[in-house]
Amino acid sequence: MPRDPVCGLILDEKTAKFKIKHDGETYYFCSVKCKKRFKRNRRKFVK
Ligand SMILES: [Zn+2]
Repeated sequence: MPRDPVCGLILDEKTAKFKIKHDGETYYFCSVKCKKRFKRNRRKFVK
């Protein structure tokens, strides 16, 4: 199960609407808010 890297919520990749491809990996988000936070500061959230 993918995890929202911003808030840590566990998500279902089949129903997750908010996602970003970054460095060949797909990141899933619970909301557009988390997606925007990720976009603003990718380095902080990418391992
Ligand atoms: Zn979130």
